[in-house]
This record gives sequence, C-alpha cells and structure tokens, in this order.
Amino acid sequence: MLVGLITVYSHQECTLKDVAGGYGTVFRIGQSLPARVLERAKGHLAALPSPVLGYLARQATEAGHEVRAFDVRRGAAGDDPLPEVDLALVLTSLIDATAERAVMAELRARGTRVIAFGSYATQRPGQYIGAADVVIEGEPEALGARLFDAKLEGAVQAGFVDDLDALPFPSWDAFPVARYRYALLSQRGTTLPVSGVRGCAFGCGYCPFRATSKFRQRSPENVVEEVRRLKERYGVRGVAFRDPLFNLDEDRVIALADGLAPLDVRFSGEMRADRLDRDLLARLRDAGLRSLELGVESVDLGLLTRQKRQPPSMQQIENIVEAAHDLGVRVIANFMMGLPEDDEAGIRATVAWAKELNTFAVQFTVATPYPGTSLEGLLGDRDPAPEAYTGWEPLFDHPTLAPDELRSLREWAYVSYHARPRYAIHFAQQAARAMLD
Ligand code: SF4
Repeated sequence: MLVGLITVYSHQECTLKDVAGGYGTVFRIGQSLPARVLERAKGHLAALPSPVLGYLARQATEAGHEVRAFDVRRGAAGDDPLPEVDLALVLTSLIDATAERAVMAELRARGTRVIAFGSYATQRPGQYIGAADVVIEGEPEALGARLFDAKLEGAVQAGFVDDLDALPFPSWDAFPVARYRYALLSQRGTTLPVSGVRGCAFGCGYCPFRATSKFRQRSPENVVEEVRRLKERYGVRGVAFRDPLFNLDEDRVIALADGLAPLDVRFSGEMRADRLDRDLLARLRDAGLRSLELGVESVDLGLLTRQKRQPPSMQQIENIVEAAHDLGVRVIANFMMGLPEDDEAGIRATVAWAKELNTFAVQFTVATPYPGTSLEGLLGDRDPAPEAYTGWEPLFDHPTLAPDELRSLREWAYVSYHARPRYAIHFAQQAARAMLD
C-alpha cells in the first residue's frame, strides 16, 4: 500500500505547524513595507517538517508499506494536485483546518482512504468527522501497526505514547531532506527536527502545549542515538529540538550535552532562563548549542503570575542573555502582548526591555485564546474562523485595547525593534560569528 503523509498549507506567509502546541502559527504582522519585509525574511529562515511525520513514516515502512510525503498548497498561490496514494494521513492544525477539510473531502471523493491526526483533530475531532474516514484523538504513533488497519473507522482514541524511548526512530527517507533548514542554527547543511520532550511540566494557563499533550521526556541516551543516526544517514549539520521545554532537568541536560558533544552537530532549543547558568550554557555551547529560544513574555511578572506562569526573574533573563551573547549563542526572545490585564503602557515597557536585551531575534505574539487554554473562555460568544488563529491576531474583547490598537502596537514593536543601529550592529556581529563557525 502507498501511504501519503500530507501537510496542507493555505497561507502565503511563513506557516509553522508544530508550534503553538501543534495548532500552528502564521507570521502576519502588518501592512507596512518594513512589516512585509520582516514577514518575507522569516519565511526564508526555517523550513522543517513536524517530527510526528517522521515517526509515522518509520511505522508505515516497518508495517511493510511504501511511504511518500507531500506538501499540498491551497489558496492564492494556486492549488497543488492531489497526491495519488492508497492511504492519506493528513496532519491537522488549527490554522489550516478549513483547507485540510477540503483536501480530505477531495481525496475521499476520489476513493482515497483518509486518516486525520494531530493536535486540532485531538482537541476538536468533530471538525474532521465526516471529512475523514478516521479521526485520531491523541498520538497516532500509539496505535503502532493498527493505524494502517483497514477496519479502523470513525473517531479512534489512541491515547498518548507512554514510553517515548520505545518508539522506533523517525525516518526522513521519503522527505526532501536537503530542503530542510534553520538558518539561525546551521548556515551550511541540512537541519532536521528532533522531539526529545513532549508536553511541559509547567502550567502556564495560556500555553497550548498544556492543552494538547502531556509531559514526557526521552532518555538522553535515546535522543543522542537518534542524532547520531541522523548524522550518519542524512549528514545533518543542524538539529532543531522541538521540545516545548528543553531544560527541565539539569542532569538530563548535562547528559545530553556530553552525548552530543562528540557528534559535531549544531542544535537549538527552547529553554527557561531560571534553569540555566553561565557554566551550563557554556557546556551546551561546547556541545553544539547555537540558538536559544527564551520565553520572556512580559516585563510585568505579576501579570504572568496571575496567568499561572512561574516567570524567571528579570535578572535571570538578563544574565542568560548576556552570557549567551558572550558565548556566541544566538538568542530568540519571545514576548506576548495583550493578555487581559496588559495595557498600552505595559506593552511599551515590555518592548523597551526587549530593546535593552537586544537579542538576535524577537517574537511579539498576541495573546491567543487557543482551544483548551485558560484564555479560551474570553471568547464569549465569538467563534473566530480557524484561519484567524495566526498567533499574531487579537481575537477576544480586550478590556483596554481595541483590536486595531493592538495590531498597530504589534507592528510598531517589530518595526521599531529592527530599525535600531544597536540592533543592526549586534545582528551583524552574530551573523559574522555564525559564518565563521
Ligand atoms: S514553560 Fe513554556 S512550554 Fe511550559 S507551560 Fe509554560 S509556556 Fe508552555
């Protein structure tokens, strides 16, 4: 049987599928020329498949099937032809849900069996019942070879994989590996994703990872062995860890650093500043860490605490950013604007702090009421279209900020951040260092 692993895209802007808990994001920040330039630049930065596709490719191959991967584009840029396969496994996301349903319906109309899986199918299976033959709630890998059983029908409770180390390593043989990249990480050569941790042990109320998964982590030995095989088989230069939180457990992180160091690969990870210090960062840098993503969110730590976040202190964040800059680790600082108690003064103070930190890259997302999070209730009677959940769009009635005010603060944050000479100097220094690395 020919199994197609299908990812549907319907937006022109940079779309990332395995962020925001697998709901996906679309980088759309404004209409001005500088905003459009930034949007375009981000599109060139990264192209990575969702790790779950690699796992399913391996399982399908082990079950004796042939596998091919397809990106199917729908929308203004034109429609890609439908893949000719016997079984279509379609990755679901909130951001492209409408186009995914349409592609599923077209495939079924042609007689192709369709299975929907992923975070949005898990949270809202009803969105795909009727469009697909089978809708998986949970992690499809948990079903093993049963996933390919023709008797499977309707909504299927797959649950979660208990022992991630027991899964066979992902296979990328059926994917256009040479096209995958993450420019912040490896200037030259291919980058592939690795999923070492699923879910998160923390409980930030607004975080979609809490809603779509449960916390588990693989042993460091198992992760290192996967990276070793990625290098051996695909010659990867970079590994993008897709863990919601890479550094929960210091002993595990040290074991990972020690295991990765001899492999001579570059890697990235999302970390908490309060679980790092200069020594650990230096050890990770020696092991290949070149890009560090930090959840900073807001300068108003009380506002974050009331959203059930345990925020690192400003001093911890400043210390880690300074250490990373000294060591040549490029930092992406993530901020969120528009939480219910946020206001214009708070947003301007947060952006001022972002400029002080002056990291290599920033994200100023807008608080989004994702399904299953504590912000969902703020929608009231509103029912935005799935496509509106870009991660950068105001979707609920904010007590002090009208949607257009929030949009213009978002655009101002990006444009004014990147238009500073101090930022240009730092960017050039880090980029030059990366080229020599
Ligand atoms: S620490 Fe990060 S990944 Fe974990 S719940 Fe909070 S925002 Fe989500």
